[in-house]
Amino acid sequence: TFLSNKIAAGEVVERPASVVKELVENAVDAGSAQIRIDTAEGGLAKIRVLDDGGGITSEDIALAFSRHATSKIFADEDLFRIKTLGFRGEALPSIASVAKVTLRTSTGEKDGEEVFIEGGEIRERKTAALRRGTEITVTDLFYNTPARLKYLKTVHTELGHISDAVNRIALAHPEIAFTLTHNEKTLLQTAGNGDIARVIAAIYGTSIGRKLLNIEAEDLDFQVTGYIAKPEVTRANRNYMTTIINGRFVKNYALYKAVQDGFHTLLPIGKFPLVVLHIEMNPLLVDVNVHPSKLEVRISKEKALQDLVKKAIQERLQKERL
Ligand code: ADP
Ligand code: MG
Repeated sequence: TFLSNKIAAGEVVERPASVVKELVENAVDAGSAQIRIDTAEGGLAKIRVLDDGGGITSEDIALAFSRHATSKIFADEDLFRIKTLGFRGEALPSIASVAKVTLRTSTGEKDGEEVFIEGGEIRERKTAALRRGTEITVTDLFYNTPARLKYLKTVHTELGHISDAVNRIALAHPEIAFTLTHNEKTLLQTAGNGDIARVIAAIYGTSIGRKLLNIEAEDLDFQVTGYIAKPEVTRANRNYMTTIINGRFVKNYALYKAVQDGFHTLLPIGKFPLVVLHIEMNPLLVDVNVHPSKLEVRISKEKALQDLVKKAIQERLQKERL
């Protein structure tokens, strides 16, 4: 029902960045090669995500906006076993219950469709000549939930959260070309050629791009790839340690600790390194807290992974000094 969607929205759609995250993850799941995100006024005035993925069939459009209608999976415990980022079928109905949504989509086989949704209901529907892919435009976010609107911070703060959300997904998916704009200004553009170092440079600047050391390590359970910035590049907080497990951005303090231990005395006290690590592992080794927005995970054989990461970083830094 509309009400239960609105309640779910309270969890799923905390702020504009949550909308961006959900829409972009859907675009990733749709197999897109290029994803464009346009925003205005910190996402409150407008969020538009355009992709070149598989599109939504005419029959599935209404379904996509009804609760728990995921085309992807079935059991929450499977979160890391499944390849897709979405799995709850909650995002679109939640978003549509607290904003006005225009969906334009085509599977590329016949004419596409344009659908306008307000108050959680499809108000208008017409065919449209479109290329394969999906464009979702969200306007007037929280127009019917004034309490939520009031809680939001400045445009600047909301934009910061949007940027973080897109950066994380871009780092997790270097094979996809991302563009992020705000008020018509381009904030991020990635090449989509699979090169993580280039994504890092696009996000943190070309000078940092020149100070990266590649990391590669594996044992029977884990495969670690990615980059660490040279120790001279330090940061004041942990947010510059990006850890991605099986294509999904996660927060894990054991991993952060392993990274810091790898740098050991090379880090001044109170400073943190800038790293991006992709870790591939058997999904059964990751225990996920399945709350929609929680990114924290517990890893079995955590100690072994810590040792692997720490040693890989130590050895890489050692090699660099020789
Ligand atoms: P979930 O991602 O958990 O399945 P969502 O509410 O985010 O649930 O999306 C509902 C469904 O709508 C998806 O399962 C998918 O079938 C479809 N969908 C949403 N966005 C896109 C997109 N950009 N391209 C193709 N299909 C999409
Ligand atoms: Mg989704």
